[in-house]
Amino acid sequence: MSRVIISDVRNDEISEIIKNVFEIFGVKEKVKDKKVLVKPNLLGPFPPERGVTTDPRIISAIVQELKKCKSKEIIVGDNSGSIHFDPLKIAKITGILDASDGCYGNIAREIVEVKIESEFIEKLFISKIVKEADYVINVPKFKTHSLTTITGAIKNMFGIIPGGKKAKLHTFARSVKKFAEILLDIYQIRIPDLNIMDAIIGMEGAGPTNGKIRAINKIISSDNGISLDSIMAAMMGLKPDTIELLQVAKERNLGETDISNIIIDGELEVISGFKTPNNSILQRIRRTAGPHVFNFASVKPIVNHNKCKICKKCIEVCPVSAMNLTNKFPEVDRKKCISCFCCDEHCPYGAIILPSWPQDLYYRLKGK
Ligand code: SF4
Ligand code: SF4
Repeated sequence: MSRVIISDVRNDEISEIIKNVFEIFGVKEKVKDKKVLVKPNLLGPFPPERGVTTDPRIISAIVQELKKCKSKEIIVGDNSGSIHFDPLKIAKITGILDASDGCYGNIAREIVEVKIESEFIEKLFISKIVKEADYVINVPKFKTHSLTTITGAIKNMFGIIPGGKKAKLHTFARSVKKFAEILLDIYQIRIPDLNIMDAIIGMEGAGPTNGKIRAINKIISSDNGISLDSIMAAMMGLKPDTIELLQVAKERNLGETDISNIIIDGELEVISGFKTPNNSILQRIRRTAGPHVFNFASVKPIVNHNKCKICKKCIEVCPVSAMNLTNKFPEVDRKKCISCFCCDEHCPYGAIILPSWPQDLYYRLKGK
């Protein structure tokens, strides 16, 4: 049976929690004289209080514990969501550079092509260190996701792919189920050895960037990312087997999604009133639909002119060039847009609105 540890940061110091997790999963013996990759969520240049990226206090505690274990080499790094972001700047702003205590590395610098078992692609580029590391510690964040409902351990491993190439994968896998399959294809390139989820400050609503932050005060750890994500989903008040990422993981026998079959150390509390992304009937239809129905049932983003700073990140990140600068502000070309919501994920100012389906219908009728 897989095991998940739920630790409360109000009861114990973060460093004590990490030390305990290392003991339970026998990390010391596994990392001695080994090359270790610590993979946080460094989606973009967001300060820790935005709740978008991994809390630097957890990274600091992991690095210090690894140093005690006498690992040969420790590298802390992630590929951000866009090639247009400067990795060092992200590391500084998120607090990860200081927290890494000399172990930060720009893992986008050296990449390698790998063959992949996938119905969508035969090969792709990933950071070389992912292939070289003897031990990988995945450090995702407890957050919702407007497209995939949750973003946790599975989705954090999407970051082994360098910047802009990630968004392009949306063009191969249009439905949520298909996109879940491609995410699991990538997860299986290098299944992490240990997962330590930052649930100190989580995100609810329309995550993973512009949702609402929510204090959860937990660190959740497991040697199985699927079980970990299932526990996160349950804490959000969701049934794990309704989430495509976990459905595909279960079909592939990658881990346990049935909570009753997971050993839980600590208290599994459903977070009262936790808001998950819009899950209307049409949203549910588009999850499994073919491209035409998916397109009909999908909403298209709108730019809020009051918040937009015309930084053009949404234009740079769009995988199908559907976002263009027209009349001063970016605007979506509805015919081109594939509703991947990468623009929302990468907008630093929360200026992208994902309308409800009736609102979207109104915009369609107005010809917007
Ligand atoms: S919508 Fe957001 S990402 Fe796009 S230009 Fe405006 S502020 Fe930048
Ligand atoms: S406009 Fe936004 S949602 Fe539409 S395809 Fe581009 S990035 Fe994706």
